[in-house]
Amino acid sequence: MTKLRVAIVGAGPAGIYAADILLKAERTFDVSIDLFDRLPAPYGLVRYGVAPDHPRIKGIINALREVLDRGDIRVFGNVDFGTDISLDDLKRHYHAVIFATGAVRDASLNIPGIDLEGSYGAADFVSWFDGHPDVPRDWPLTAKSVAVIGNGNVALDVSRMLAKHADDLLSTEIPPNVYEGLKASPVTDVHVFGRRGPAQVKFTPLELRELGELNDVDMVLYDEDFDYDEASRTAIASNKQVMVIDKILQKWRERPVGNASRRLHLHFYARPIEVVGDENGNVAAFRYERTRPDAAGGVVGTGEIREVPIQAIYRAVGYFGSPLDGIPFDKKHGVIPNREGVALHKASNEVVPGVYATGWIKRGPVGLIGHTKSDAMETIRHVVNGEGSWWSPEAPSEQSVIDLLDSRGVKYTDLDGWHNLDQHEIALGEPHGRARVKVVPRDEMIAISRAESPVA
Ligand SMILES: Cc1cc2nc3c(=O)[nH]c(=O)nc-3n(C[C@H](O)[C@H](O)[C@H](O)COP(=O)(O)OP(=O)(O)OC[C@H]3O[C@@H](n4cnc5c(N)ncnc54)[C@H](O)[C@@H]3O)c2cc1C
Repeated sequence: MTKLRVAIVGAGPAGIYAADILLKAERTFDVSIDLFDRLPAPYGLVRYGVAPDHPRIKGIINALREVLDRGDIRVFGNVDFGTDISLDDLKRHYHAVIFATGAVRDASLNIPGIDLEGSYGAADFVSWFDGHPDVPRDWPLTAKSVAVIGNGNVALDVSRMLAKHADDLLSTEIPPNVYEGLKASPVTDVHVFGRRGPAQVKFTPLELRELGELNDVDMVLYDEDFDYDEASRTAIASNKQVMVIDKILQKWRERPVGNASRRLHLHFYARPIEVVGDENGNVAAFRYERTRPDAAGGVVGTGEIREVPIQAIYRAVGYFGSPLDGIPFDKKHGVIPNREGVALHKASNEVVPGVYATGWIKRGPVGLIGHTKSDAMETIRHVVNGEGSWWSPEAPSEQSVIDLLDSRGVKYTDLDGWHNLDQHEIALGEPHGRARVKVVPRDEMIAISRAESPVA
């Protein structure tokens, strides 16, 4: 073998870091890497998950872009594993595949009424405001009172985007349809609900603090949630992050609720019971059971049932990975079963030759972008040392995969294509003093990338 041909499926941070680390790894053979993504543009959730008003985090794209711009990784966008290319195809053309397909769906919340009109998954809303090509362009923002279920950072992103005035997002990369949708929103009250107490939230301090800085939005907290038990007091005293979170919340409690046109309520100790519908099947209220601390850092139900009238509800209870054709899948955790990134058969725990995983599809949808780097290091160590389980491809030449995609009429985009789209989006933003304005429709993204039609 003169060259190890490796396919990486998923061009989010996990896929790009894996490619970079593999190229830099100490090894006794050459490597050639093809990076596939079903989207016409790379960067995964950094482009389509991180909120548009977090430009510092979005800026990680610049570091990922530097890796791709080095020119030693081929990029094939708009190629869906399972539709455009299969596991058999990969076996024909590569020695191994690394799946870095992340998690793009909402985890489910099994309570009655969750499928009513006006009940949404956070992931879909995030995709909408981040200009994802595969979600509808119009989002129904007609509710005055909204509930957001969850006490993690995605719940914060969703609540902030719902409560923030659209004009305060104008400096960001949001597409015009998102600005117009948010501008027309009549929302006055956003209620965030968590099952546990303020000392058990999964928010990070920086992201929480931002809520209190929103223009013309009052924070509303409830005294009944701050009667801390011993376990909460210990958590606050012993964990710096919990201590900072408590300080932020206590400060807000001292602030008078003013005359802002929008309010953001934080409710704790609230276990979801039901989304209540009206006679037309639309969301009308959120019903929950009040909980109390169980003295061990958890909560128990009190039996007291409450209801808040709302017209829309968003569940931000986590993301979930999707199964991949021909690859073992752990349905409970939404990941590829694996040992340190080496894929395993679910039942027998035996190694699946030639198949590796990294990022959120490897360890589940938790952790920051930086964590995908350490993940990739672990996986790549096994790829480099896994010669015994590599495939023996019949057609390993770099041209053969291009011929395959061409023969199937797949309109793939490449790195030059990304540069075209990038420059186009930057040019769209320039007249308005914005860093970029995202192009949303898939066809338009592809046409601009492939320079196939006049750019509007
Ligand atoms: C709403 C939200 C906000 C976040 N904000 C932050 C933040 O502020 N800071 C931070 O550090 N982290 C943040 N994160 C976490 C961060 O996004 C993840 O840690 C990181 O993106 C995981 O990387 P990944 O490469 O595993 O997955 P992803 O980023 O999801 O990339 C997976 C890629 O695989 C592609 N793919 C999937 N299936 C296929 C297929 N069948 N064929 C081809 N391609 C496929 C997808 O299109 C995607 O491009 C946020 C996450 C979310 C959900």
